[in-house]
Amino acid sequence: MKITKQKGTRDIYGQDIKIWQYIEQNIREICKTHCFNEIRTPVFEATELFARGVGDETDIVNKEMYTFLDKGGRSITLRPELTAGVVRAYIENGMSSMVSPVKLWYEANMYRYEKMQKGRYREFTQFGIEYFGSKSYLADIEVITLAYELFKKLNLIDKVTLTINSIGCIECRKKYIEKLKEYIKPNLDKMCDTCKIRYEKNPLRMLDCKEDRCQNILENAPMITDYICDECKSDFEALKSMLDKLGIKYEVDKRIVRGLDYYNKTVFEYISNEYGFAVCAGGRYDKLVENIGGESTSAVGFGMGLDRICLLLENSMDNNVDNVDIYFAVLDKDKYSNALKMVLSLRENNIKVEIDTLDRSFNAKLKYANKINAKYVCIIGDELKQNKCTIKNMENSKQDLVDFKLEKIISIIK
Ligand code: ATP
Ligand code: MG
Repeated sequence: MKITKQKGTRDIYGQDIKIWQYIEQNIREICKTHCFNEIRTPVFEATELFARGVGDETDIVNKEMYTFLDKGGRSITLRPELTAGVVRAYIENGMSSMVSPVKLWYEANMYRYEKMQKGRYREFTQFGIEYFGSKSYLADIEVITLAYELFKKLNLIDKVTLTINSIGCIECRKKYIEKLKEYIKPNLDKMCDTCKIRYEKNPLRMLDCKEDRCQNILENAPMITDYICDECKSDFEALKSMLDKLGIKYEVDKRIVRGLDYYNKTVFEYISNEYGFAVCAGGRYDKLVENIGGESTSAVGFGMGLDRICLLLENSMDNNVDNVDIYFAVLDKDKYSNALKMVLSLRENNIKVEIDTLDRSFNAKLKYANKINAKYVCIIGDELKQNKCTIKNMENSKQDLVDFKLEKIISIIK
């Protein structure tokens, strides 16, 4: 029986891996200039972490987690997102006593049991940042602008739209939830079963329901922005005015509540203009650290779907082929060790060198040199007795007999 990859997973290689490396290089650079430090956490965590951290009534926890009992009988879950994991690490490693704010970034694979679509996989990669220890909307600005600068660096800024909203604090949300429930009550029996549960347990989640019949009922539902308290309102105004001053365009989308339970105040998404899906989503989560058992700590962050970023870049990146600086064609097996010593020295000097391990004819070797786009070929034959080799320039086919010396060969290549 042929063994194939699992549904929702992919092998990434060839031109695709170039796009990934390009994105990852830009992420590293941007996190460095914005002074964020990398964190790596385990792929699996206690299931309880996500139940508490992401929220019981979310799609992620309800339907999408890869959960199993390990051989010791513990309930384990493959991380479906990383904020909960980073918060766990923040608490467990006592980072609250480090210099504040604590600014972390991660890039990692996530696992969700999802229905496959374009840009939706069961194993996918997120780049994310978490900014701990600032209550101020200025931290929200730091987080939103980091994503903005990354889109600029990747030449994607015209392909995405920033949408923002405020979902208020716990206090102002209480009032809103009452109003929302009042509005929905007469139509509750027409909503999906999940929404009926959400109505009791977490009514805000209903706004995020993907079923049409629920969305139709919600079309004229009261908006949270009309119920937020004075402090939340003034923070949101300050945030918008700062974005205006920075010349960062945005739209206020009163429907964003975000798929995860832990957000409050600012929420935002960067939406792909072409595909309509979110490529980056985040917000403020001032209660999460406390919920997971730490001291009360304000925080804000985002998660960016890199697989979706790849889709946006696919059509705009050049197919740049890797080239090889020099290829060694060894015609006499006895001279292989001399050739290999030279090859290793050249590689130490940061020169891209290829040498054959296949026993093939001189013509086959030259054909191969062409295929791998070698700029030069070094032919090692009888002349090595006089400490010479032939270097062929593959662009103009000129050949020269030269000294078999490291400096000489480097000078030709450079
Ligand atoms: P959606 O509404 O698209 O399901 P979400 O609210 O579940 O998104 P988050 O949990 O906020 O998404 O994750 C942050 C980002 O990670 C998303 O904006 C998206 O770019 C990406 N993402 C989420 N799920 C997937 C997936 N299954 N495959 C690829 N990328 C994903
Ligand atoms: Mg989802």
